[in-house]
Amino acid sequence: SAGGASGGGVRFELEKETELRFEVEAGEKVQLELLSGLAEVFGSELTRNKKYTFGSGSKIAVFTWHSCSVSLTGKTEVAYVSRDTPMLLYLNTHAALEQMRQQAERDNERGPRVMVVGPTDVGKSTVCRLLLNYAVRLGRRPTLVELDVGQSGVSVPGTVSALCIERPADVEEGFSVQAPLVYHFGSTSPGTNIKLYNKLTSCLAEVFSQRCEVNRKASVGGCVINTCGWVKGSGYQALVHCASAFEVDVVLVLDQERLYNELKRDLPHFVKVVLLPKSGGVVERNKDCRREARDEKIREYFYGFRGVSFYPHAFDVRFSDVRIYKIGAPSIPDSCLPLGMSQDDTQLKLVPVTPGRDLTHHVLSVSCAEDEGAEAGASGPAAQRRGILESPVCGFIVVTAVDTQAQVMTVLSPAPRPLPRHTLLIMDIRFIDLK
Ligand code: ATP
Repeated sequence: SAGGASGGGVRFELEKETELRFEVEAGEKVQLELLSGLAEVFGSELTRNKKYTFGSGSKIAVFTWHSCSVSLTGKTEVAYVSRDTPMLLYLNTHAALEQMRQQAERDNERGPRVMVVGPTDVGKSTVCRLLLNYAVRLGRRPTLVELDVGQSGVSVPGTVSALCIERPADVEEGFSVQAPLVYHFGSTSPGTNIKLYNKLTSCLAEVFSQRCEVNRKASVGGCVINTCGWVKGSGYQALVHCASAFEVDVVLVLDQERLYNELKRDLPHFVKVVLLPKSGGVVERNKDCRREARDEKIREYFYGFRGVSFYPHAFDVRFSDVRIYKIGAPSIPDSCLPLGMSQDDTQLKLVPVTPGRDLTHHVLSVSCAEDEGAEAGASGPAAQRRGILESPVCGFIVVTAVDTQAQVMTVLSPAPRPLPRHTLLIMDIRFIDLK
């Protein structure tokens, strides 16, 4: 229930197991303060009398297990208290996972590997954040695996990644992303290159398993995998592939009975498939909203976030100093394929890109793959051998201008010249730097 104003803010008294949901109006900011009691935002506890600021378009829920009073200052699009939340079910899910971790500890086994699935806008990312927060608050060290190439919580869009969670997410900024393992996918929908998507899923699974072998805490902590909202056709097959690559133990299906039944039918019987309701608070986001969120993620990568400002560098890169590839050749009719080659091969092929004006504004991943001597123009087979596809990314740049005459391009880079590596992978994604 909304109460009187306090210091310019609106005060809300929350009873136990209720939540205050609010959305920040476009172009505005809202300050949240916990005045008394205990409360959390997506599993991160609030500190009393600290002012938390949320930017334009943020959609937030302040939940309390006990009861609390909070105040909101600034322009909200909506702000209301709801008693109808699935939080108790989510907490029970966490408790079941924690039991599996305790058992893993006792029996010297590995902890739960959990995949969170469901259509778009059902709160998958939020459930992942919640489960990871509750786990890390108990001293666990779970891993977040981010397979949502459209709205990555870890890196820029067009990537898949893994991140070891060592502390709860910051209430305003989310999980601290100090040393994520990131792979280049190149576009915002897995459907653009499903073979590559599945291959990268396998890569992440392999690296995670290797880490579990040498790091007991990581093994017991297990992982929480966030997936894309594409749950039909090849999108569904990608979920089944992911379940098998990671050997998941638990699948949490949000809000879709059909998907739940399909996965129960298609996954091995020892995989626990659980249907969970979505929260009524999850807000649908339209295309523009998603595009804006993606843009913001790239801007943050170069310019920092709120308190922390980064100062990116702009410099020229000679065409002859780099090798640019696109992953996946356009598909051609089977009858035109060279003997012994399949469509799969074309989707995983590295195609050299000749730099031109159309590179402008494209985001490029700088691959960690070792540069191969001075042998400029190395293409196809040689490049494949070096395993560029399976190499993580060490950073991103944006092409801001191309001068074909001088054979140079100007790039925006988080670090000063020179580039750490010279193999660049082009994304479909573009970023227009307005600063
Ligand atoms: P997608 O797969 O489309 O990326 P998703 O299923 O992962 O979406 P989320 O990103 O978790 O969905 O949630 C969508 C939005 O709803 C987010 O902005 C999130 O902050 C907000 N949200 C989630 N739960 C609540 C809640 N209980 N109250 C208010 N807002 C919420």
